[in-house]
Amino acid sequence: MHVLSRRAIAATFLFFTLTQMIVCAAKSNKTEVSWDILARKDMVYNQIRGRGIDDERLLDAMLEVERHRFVPKTLEKLAYADHPLPIGKGQTISQPYVVALMTDELKLKATDRVLEIGTGSGYQAAILSLLVKEVYTIEIIRSLADSAAQRLTSLGYENVHVRYGDGFLGWPEEEPFDAVIITCAPPELPEPLIRQLAEGGRLIVPLGDDFQMLTLYKKVAGALEERKITPVRFVPMRGLIEEQ
Ligand code: SAH
Repeated sequence: MHVLSRRAIAATFLFFTLTQMIVCAAKSNKTEVSWDILARKDMVYNQIRGRGIDDERLLDAMLEVERHRFVPKTLEKLAYADHPLPIGKGQTISQPYVVALMTDELKLKATDRVLEIGTGSGYQAAILSLLVKEVYTIEIIRSLADSAAQRLTSLGYENVHVRYGDGFLGWPEEEPFDAVIITCAPPELPEPLIRQLAEGGRLIVPLGDDFQMLTLYKKVAGALEERKITPVRFVPMRGLIEEQ
């Protein structure tokens, strides 16, 4: 009788422990699949792959980078929607598809060193950082440069170098670059950026004033080959270019 009741107690204890473990496992599973993972999958599969971009490395990078951490807290839930969003100081983070399209057109290699003009939130730089060796990015608004640098460091994007300054001048100490991406719109191509592009390098830019044409250049034997991609709308490039 004594032995039986000890067995009964042990069995009851085991039952409760197992039940507790199952409940805990169910709870932790629930928190793992958080809203942003589902939203990123939807963004990548529907907005990006759905429009014909199928580079697996790029799609993986866009699944990985937590875009909602690059927008103001109040807009977090809109981070994965199919449009640009304000990031403060009158600037915007581009629509996810446009980020993907510009990155895809650059045909990046893991060994590339890339220059970005217009750091903004740092989102485009974070995507690039997963695809290439080093990313150099320049932002003309000090507070945006500072917060992007801080954000990128705290999220662990160690191969991104942020500089506060006028991207018109490029980053001469680090040239030549295998690719240049301009994420603000200049009316014409800044001369220093052409010079800092490596032979065989690619440069993508929304070129124009109010409405722009996304244009890809390739440096071949010192000259630029040009290909127009699609009309786009970006914030204008500021600073020295306005004095040209
Ligand atoms: N790539 C950014 C979005 C860019 S918005 C992202 O992923 O969030 C365009 C940015 O270009 C703005 O932050 C604007 O301040 C910056 N900009 C405008 N003119 C510039 C210049 N001459 N040099 C560097 N940055 C410039």
